[in-house]
Amino acid sequence: MSRREEIAERLGAVRERIAAACADAGRTPEEVTLIVVTKFHPPGDIGHLVDLGVTDIGENRDQEAAPKISGLDPALRSRLTCHFIGQLQTNKARSVARYADSVQSVDRVRLVNALEKAAAGRVAEGGTPLGVSLQVDLGEGADAGRGGVLPAGLPELARAVQDAEHLRLEGVMAVAPLGLDEAGTAAAFARLAQASATVREIAPEARWVSGGMSADLEVAVRHGATHLRVGTAILGSRPTPR
Ligand SMILES: *Cc1c(COP(=O)(O)O)cnc(C)c1O
Repeated sequence: MSRREEIAERLGAVRERIAAACADAGRTPEEVTLIVVTKFHPPGDIGHLVDLGVTDIGENRDQEAAPKISGLDPALRSRLTCHFIGQLQTNKARSVARYADSVQSVDRVRLVNALEKAAAGRVAEGGTPLGVSLQVDLGEGADAGRGGVLPAGLPELARAVQDAEHLRLEGVMAVAPLGLDEAGTAAAFARLAQASATVREIAPEARWVSGGMSADLEVAVRHGATHLRVGTAILGSRPTPR
């Protein structure tokens, strides 16, 4: 089987899972955007994905993503929305603002300030404002390390983004804590839905709820996710040798 066929088959299976989860939840698949996480995988895979109708990709490390995304053929790049979903140091904000359309991992005011500065430069050069989502810690402190702001910190962070002229608040994002059973994962995604409601009280247009990965996308869809970030189920667990 060629790499293209392999990706087509896995992508088809994931799309079926999303359609089934939406049907179960009384939602339509059009409400849910599939972001294929291309980290660790070569640019050639991105070409296959676009040919197969994928419109959104995600990357989590600037060091890898910067050359990979900037190096894409412009015609291919123009058909894609690129989401940065990894933990981000403030000194990488300028780099990420050069190639990403959205940064979903915003979890502190210092990072908002760094991204605003970078986005102002990008707008001055004719670019668009940078989309941002607030990453929420769903671990209730017990699962530190997956990143995110505690729910109590959301209003301050949302207001900081709203005050930033070159940033556009798009919504919330979370990674469900590891090692939970299905009920625990469901409770975590319910907390994400609550976090989304908190943010929408401040910014009604910030409707993205980015939750759900290869293992838990059904639970996320049930709890209102609008964006799913799926890597392994589509591209496999490690890069294919070239
Ligand atoms: C890698 C990654 C994903 C994709 O996870 P899979 O289990 O491979 O689907 C989703 N979100 C974030 C933040 C990631 O880093």
